[in-house]
Amino acid sequence: MNASDPFDLTGRTALVTGSSRGIGRAIAQAFVQRGATVAVHCRAQEEAEEAADELASVGPARARGFGVDLAEKGAGRRLTEAVLSTFGALDIVVLNASAQVRRPFIEIDADEFAFQIDINLRATFEILQVALPRMADAGWGRVLTIGSVQQVRPNAKLAVYAATKSAQVNLALNLAKQYAGRGITVNNLAPGLIDTDRNADLKSNEVAYRQLLQIIPAQRAGQPEECAWPALLLCSPAGGYITGADLLVDGGLHLP
Ligand code: NAP
Repeated sequence: MNASDPFDLTGRTALVTGSSRGIGRAIAQAFVQRGATVAVHCRAQEEAEEAADELASVGPARARGFGVDLAEKGAGRRLTEAVLSTFGALDIVVLNASAQVRRPFIEIDADEFAFQIDINLRATFEILQVALPRMADAGWGRVLTIGSVQQVRPNAKLAVYAATKSAQVNLALNLAKQYAGRGITVNNLAPGLIDTDRNADLKSNEVAYRQLLQIIPAQRAGQPEECAWPALLLCSPAGGYITGADLLVDGGLHLP
């Protein structure tokens, strides 16, 4: 570790779920650039390995791909155990992968409800049940859940998704208090509208998208890197005294 650089992650090992693209990828890249060994994750093994190879080329450290579908029961536990057995350590976990079904509340069926709960909440629970005891033994750890501005400004077509994000924050706050004395911080980063594949459909309707941008005080969408830089703060030694924070990265969209 480089004592003169509080953002240095040399010697640290990180798992960033859903890091083949979008916000997760930008976070994984920021970590690799700061010297961390990163487990790059998405559903398909081949895609995860491709993304890991690309990331490994931008930093001095290692990146390995892990293809695990978090919709399957027990998948979060399997993923975390695989990362631990590959790297022998796990210092940083970013819970970024999520499922989002955009439909009116009354039309969401039981499978769509369960699908969002499974990926956005159950997988987080499973991953942290494996990772936190290891971090506690090591006396150092960083957990970052990725939430959403929907926690505080829920959209009618994203009611279940928004509820899963709020539940995840509640879990993060609970664990922040439980693990603060063990050298572990637990925080939540809540993005607003960020320019990723997830919003391709929204963006394809140019008129509606322009109207959407107008309700954001910053008058634009954020870039994935604008989530990665605050994530680096919260996951590096620089953020060592920040725990239980819910950081909105949304250009002011949460403001009344
Ligand atoms: P994205 O572009 O849709 O990427 C999602 C990532 O998660 C991909 O790597 C995807 O891998 C992975 N993933 C999805 N379902 C998975 C599953 N069942 N198992 C394993 N991996 C899975 O997402 P994003 O826009 O970067 O969003 C990242 C996070 O920010 C999410 O938690 C999202 O809720 C939150 N967020 C985003 C926005 C926004 O405007 N973009 C706003 C608020 C909050 P595959 O290639 O396998 O699909």
